Amino acid sequence: MTKYVLVLNSGSSSIKFQVLDLAEDPQEGPFLSGLVEQIGESRGHIKIITENNTIEDRRPILSHSVGLERAFGMMSLLGVGPQDLDICAVGHRVVQGGSLFNEPVLIDDDVKEKIGSLIPLAPLHNPANLDGIENAQSLLPDVPQVAVFDTAFFHSLPEAASRYALDREVADQYHIRRYGAHGTSHKYVSELVPGLIGKDPAEVNQITLHLGNGASASAIQGGKAIDTSMGLTPLAGLVMGTRTGDIDPSVIFHLTREAHMTIDEIDTLFNRRSGLKGLCGVNDFRLLQELINEGEQDAQDAYDIYVHRLRQYVGSYMLELGRLDAITFTAGVGENHVGIRRDSMANLENFGIRIDDALNNNEAGVEGPRIISTDDSAVKVLVVPTNEELAIARFALALSEQD
Ligand code: ADP
Repeated sequence: MTKYVLVLNSGSSSIKFQVLDLAEDPQEGPFLSGLVEQIGESRGHIKIITENNTIEDRRPILSHSVGLERAFGMMSLLGVGPQDLDICAVGHRVVQGGSLFNEPVLIDDDVKEKIGSLIPLAPLHNPANLDGIENAQSLLPDVPQVAVFDTAFFHSLPEAASRYALDREVADQYHIRRYGAHGTSHKYVSELVPGLIGKDPAEVNQITLHLGNGASASAIQGGKAIDTSMGLTPLAGLVMGTRTGDIDPSVIFHLTREAHMTIDEIDTLFNRRSGLKGLCGVNDFRLLQELINEGEQDAQDAYDIYVHRLRQYVGSYMLELGRLDAITFTAGVGENHVGIRRDSMANLENFGIRIDDALNNNEAGVEGPRIISTDDSAVKVLVVPTNEELAIARFALALSEQD
């Protein structure tokens, strides 16, 4: 007996997807994964990876719907098309659920309309997410579709953490508040922590650090998020691959007046030309590390600024939580970069945080979640690989079975 769930992550010029068999052990990895990228460009790229095969297609892809249809066709050629697999649910990652969604939902016309109404809050992401939903519905009309929102986990943020100190009327009229992002990852990872440290989930105070290309920190009390670093959009908070993270908003006025930059130019500057890339020319930590090893001062500065901001957030969340049980690193950088974990947790012994170097270096070659703090560290420090696709697939299956 199989339980195949298709998970779709539709971006502005790409679609990432996986088929997971939830009847199997989730640690086995996806049954199939795929990528449709460079949509609308002169050269497209579709890649389907199964356990035994990888196939690719490099013809131009006119639109998202053409890309998805062609990807499904390639899966069929391998004998693992959606029809062959009898997919029981489709889960869609939706970036912005605003104040309208506090949990995953089965998709109907009303849900689609609401996702559409949130486009002003996520102009790059929600249209692509909606498009992915429409395409999957037309290709798999009889399969239940579920929307899983990146923001839903942060619906619980108290007013003090979610409201900006902005004119109340303006903020309310334009729905300006802290919505957060990466919620599916923070929730998934934080739910594994109590079991790993042997504590009752209701009692655990923890900080989760999702450090990928995008990066965010969350403070979580008894399973509920009480604060997070991303704001109205995923631009706020930590230093990221190409995004500024927190910056004085007056920089916008200054650049407008002094550099005569347009709002769109500043948007691109903050979102795509800043962060590590803006500071030293690369946004991938592996390349950054190479530059540091070669003695590049800009790269060292970028690294130091990244760590400085990370420690600021960890410190402020420790105070908010009052008592802290665990700090968890996840996503590409958090799971793989030994130095970031070591340096962001350095000299915190007075706060009950002590990393074990051998565990941090993973000398034992442990795969999967692990504790990297010393036995006498009052606060446990962990590395827990995130798996947003698995989390989305589980929600999708659960809701489709209630249908
Ligand atoms: P996203 O999903 O936000 O695109 P990921 O969570 O996949 O990002 O993280 C991607 C980033 O993780 C890369 O840009 C790189 O900086 C970092 N990364 C991935 N693998 C390694 C590694 N082995 N060592 C250090 N950094 C890594």
